[in-house]
Amino acid sequence: MKTRAAIIERVGGPISIKELELEPPRAGEVLVKVSAAGICRSDWQVCVGTTPHPLPAALGHEGAGTVEATGAEVNHVAPGDQVILSWAPACGTCFYCERERPGLCEVFDRTIWHGMMADGTPRLSLCGAPVYQYCALGCFAERVVVAASSCVRLPVGVPAPVGALIGCCVTTGVGAVLNTARVAPGSSVAILGAGGVGLSILLGAQLAGAHPIMVVDKLRSRTSLAQALGATHSLPAAPDIADDIRARTHGRGADYVFDATGIPALQEACLDAARPGGTVVLSGLAPVGSATNLPGAIITRKEKTIKGSYYGSAVPQRDFVQYARWYCDGKLNLDPLLSRSYGLDEVNEAYQDLRNGRIVRGMLSLEGD
Ligand SMILES: [Zn+2]
Ligand SMILES: [Zn+2]
Repeated sequence: MKTRAAIIERVGGPISIKELELEPPRAGEVLVKVSAAGICRSDWQVCVGTTPHPLPAALGHEGAGTVEATGAEVNHVAPGDQVILSWAPACGTCFYCERERPGLCEVFDRTIWHGMMADGTPRLSLCGAPVYQYCALGCFAERVVVAASSCVRLPVGVPAPVGALIGCCVTTGVGAVLNTARVAPGSSVAILGAGGVGLSILLGAQLAGAHPIMVVDKLRSRTSLAQALGATHSLPAAPDIADDIRARTHGRGADYVFDATGIPALQEACLDAARPGGTVVLSGLAPVGSATNLPGAIITRKEKTIKGSYYGSAVPQRDFVQYARWYCDGKLNLDPLLSRSYGLDEVNEAYQDLRNGRIVRGMLSLEGD
């Protein structure tokens, strides 16, 4: 079958829309017609080479759609089901999967960064040559073949764009608060970066009962949105941001400081902004090969804890459904994260808008394609 998809053919090049050949799903795989796919910065890191990836690559890893066909041995979804796509197609049986840490699955980690399915082969091709699927999804496309474990049924009543958000930024942000940090009620929280992940951390901190919640970003449009969503303080990014945060936490620093930027200098500022005995949670993806200077002399003497949080330490089959239910119950206000819809052909414009700070989260709408 043919599918139109957004692919990157060389580092630094534009994203182009190509008609690709898509093989049918094999055992343990699912064909999904994509409804919505979010414009996340991680795909851009592939385009500029800060995330090394085999090319050409089909981009897109934050999506939702409708199951059209299933391969053998697929039991938990069927044609017609609405699904959220997980970019962590965990095996379910390895050391980490058995311990409810599917984001660390040893099996998918060996294959998806090569852009392949679990059996080590691609499903997409262009003129007979393989096209690799970013995050085993590549959902900037009309249709995708994905691992069955990437498919989580979307509860009725949740719009596809909201389902797509849950597939990456919401799970990454809310999960960093509830799963990784386990923020206690009444804790002070500071968040560096107010994009899709940072604002989701804000929403998670509210669910956890944190107070105060300080949000830092260089863009006023984003800090304004953070305040509209309930941040108690919105602070402009500045070299002395740690001083600003201490000034609002009795001079000590915040109980929890979250980095949603992946920028090493800001990750270092997080350590400074956390109180003695406090916790820094790194949830933004730093460029592969970069280094952050987090001095052991301070971590030891001030008993600070550094935690990495990858995909919000999520169990997608559990957490996606929980977040969708909270959305339906009005506990998780995700609609303001959606800035604008784009057609598949407008993907370059969407990334330009993201880089220029004109949107928090753009959403490719593929309904009707
Ligand atoms: Zn993402
Ligand atoms: Zn596993």
